Amino acid sequence: MPELPEVEVIRRGLEKKIVGLQIKKIEILNAKTFEGDPQLVTGATVTGVWRKAKILGIDLVRKSLIVERRSKNKDDNRSTTDDTLTLLFHLKMTGQLVLVPKHKLRTTNHEPLIGGHPTLDMLGEMPNKSTRAIITFADGTKLYFNDQRKFGWIKLVNRESLIDNQFLKNLGPEPLEKKFTWRVLKERLLHHPSLPVKVGLMDQTAVAGIGNIYAAEACFNAKIDPRKKVRVLSDDEYSALTKGIKDALLASIKYGGSSRAHYVNSDGEKGYFLKFAHVYNRAGDPCTVCGSIIQKIAQAGRSTFFCAKCQKI
Ligand SMILES: [Zn+2]
Repeated sequence: MPELPEVEVIRRGLEKKIVGLQIKKIEILNAKTFEGDPQLVTGATVTGVWRKAKILGIDLVRKSLIVERRSKNKDDNRSTTDDTLTLLFHLKMTGQLVLVPKHKLRTTNHEPLIGGHPTLDMLGEMPNKSTRAIITFADGTKLYFNDQRKFGWIKLVNRESLIDNQFLKNLGPEPLEKKFTWRVLKERLLHHPSLPVKVGLMDQTAVAGIGNIYAAEACFNAKIDPRKKVRVLSDDEYSALTKGIKDALLASIKYGGSSRAHYVNSDGEKGYFLKFAHVYNRAGDPCTVCGSIIQKIAQAGRSTFFCAKCQKI
């Protein structure tokens, strides 16, 4: 399942390639995948690509209205509820985004951009049998949303409605932002003081976008036993944990994400983060720091990996 770093890697790729492009049309091949009126995006121009937790947002402005507004009043740059739209994407379990540039030439600028859940057919011809929606840009570039299991979705919303969006509102702070400090983390985790630290980190209202892999890696980086209750952590441990979260996420983004077999990032390169993971999915292997055997336990129905020697209870 794509986690925060995988979605961030896709976001960075798309930002480089689609900002400024105009949408010609959107085709919905599976009705349940798309919510909203697809006609509204026709003629819209991409103004930005952002991420909040695992949600990807593509901001749009409808061109006809920009021209109309400019002709009426050159100084009026205010937004209206009608012309600033956002396409929200959630990849869920098996979603993928594949951007195929107008010329499929083998040059750096024309390689397909690929990201999300890894499958072999994501490298092949598009569309394929998992394609649920296709966005065609005016220059011929196409963005394919593929999703084998159909849990993923795209929603078209007015930008202003995002302010009141309950789901986004309830998300915890973004761990990669500067204002995410150990004090913020402590305050958030102490909403549920008796939770084990690794389980607490996976609560999306405590911290946004941390899943099973990065919760385990963050505990290892901070040298904290994942079973330790959040209420007994010292301020020093909160500080180490905050740094541990950031380090794990940044390392993963650097290596292009984490998906196991053949994760491919948005520049078509494979993601190798799991080769660099300290504990995740390494049960029975030696600890990268002390050589002890990495343990595997179950917490809240998920596997937890840790080093009993390096990580203190
Ligand atoms: Zn160790």
